[in-house]
Amino acid sequence: MTNTAGQTNLETIERARRVTAAEVYDIGTRFPGVFVSAEGSWMRDVEGNRVLDVTAASGSLLLGNQHPAVVEAVVKCVRDHGAAFASTLTPQRIELAERLCERYPAGEKAVFCKTGSEATTTAIRLARAYTGRDLILTSGYHGWHDWQLTYLQMGYDPASRVANFGYNETGLARMLAEFGDEVAGVIVTPEPAWFDAAYYRRLSDLCARHGVPFIIDEVITALRWGPRGLNGTGEVPADLLTVSKGLANGHALSAVLGRRDIIDAYDKAGIAGTYTREVPPMAAALAVLDVLEDGTVHEHCEKMGGLLKAGMSDILKTIGIPAYVTGPNMMFDVVVESEKLSWDLYRAAFDFGAYFEDSGTHMVTAAFGEAEVEHALTAFDQGARKVASSLELDHGDLPTQRRLEFALEAFGGSINDDPDVLRRIDEVVDQVKKRDRDLPGALDRACG
Ligand SMILES: *Cc1c(COP(=O)(O)O)cnc(C)c1O
Repeated sequence: MTNTAGQTNLETIERARRVTAAEVYDIGTRFPGVFVSAEGSWMRDVEGNRVLDVTAASGSLLLGNQHPAVVEAVVKCVRDHGAAFASTLTPQRIELAERLCERYPAGEKAVFCKTGSEATTTAIRLARAYTGRDLILTSGYHGWHDWQLTYLQMGYDPASRVANFGYNETGLARMLAEFGDEVAGVIVTPEPAWFDAAYYRRLSDLCARHGVPFIIDEVITALRWGPRGLNGTGEVPADLLTVSKGLANGHALSAVLGRRDIIDAYDKAGIAGTYTREVPPMAAALAVLDVLEDGTVHEHCEKMGGLLKAGMSDILKTIGIPAYVTGPNMMFDVVVESEKLSWDLYRAAFDFGAYFEDSGTHMVTAAFGEAEVEHALTAFDQGARKVASSLELDHGDLPTQRRLEFALEAFGGSINDDPDVLRRIDEVVDQVKKRDRDLPGALDRACG
């Protein structure tokens, strides 16, 4: 079966190229498939091929496509209640806020937005409005907004008044000691494959000591670092927390939860959002939370993710491709020698019917059973063997240096206190202290 115009995947991509599609984001960094439907974890492309999704649609799915409880909730909402009303307040929204606040220790009150980028931007705006301070310290990916354009580099961006400390604890401690009383908030994305809860606890404690709000960006980890995210482990206190991917199982929804007094800065911060009134995604989220209630979904996903992780690790070892496989079962990283080799491996696996994330971060959904894991592993094995036939294999361990390189490429981690990094920290401190305080900052724009 081809699509309505009778086109193949490649022809459809050419058609997309003419009217839509970013050359890198939509085409260059994707494998050549245009999908018309998906059920569970299986997608069907315009040519009728079945392909297994090992990306959980970039983490946006937790239960897989067409999960009956979610379909039922969304259809019922659209058919019997409607999509949006004059007021933003609906019983669904209020119940969802209650349930999220119960679910995450940091949650006293919640506000909603549509995307992860919006949630993180809302969080820092709230922190600025609440504290009356302008500087934000950050590590990791929080989306695509202006203040995020340099997320891979430790440094200070005067335009957005954001300083990136690259997950470097020395850097954070130093910056807070030097100008902590000017910092509105510290926002960090958990990288569970690289830092344990104790690390985040230390960051949280540092912030508390300096009276700076600590924000955990759990857009992706809230439902994948265990069932209740990093905050839900109870080990890492936070003042604010963002949640999004998987919450509405593919529908657009995000939330910022946290301290009542900070969330109450919403009006002062000038935040708004027409589509925060959209009801069906909230109905979907309530259905997801119902399904998660007894814990079996996470148990199952942990198990399937664990099988996949162990299987991929074994395959690479058997073939002789040095790799470092790390992280929790529901979002683990496979690090190989280079970004190019990573791309080549997954591009080859795609030809055997499995769509992996080429960066090497893998996520299952509840729709994975043993047959799906088996299919993913077979495709990965066949692809890897094909790629390996033109490689010089050394069967060794992946050098530590490559792990550090990966941390930098993947999330801007400058973990080691080597002289370069320490110099960079000095520079950031210097730039922040010498910044032009007469320039209107984000806070002035937000709060007049
Ligand atoms: C995906 C992601 C975002 C951005 O979310 P979008 O919905 O793509 O805007 C922000 N933070 C983290 C940690 C994410 O994983």
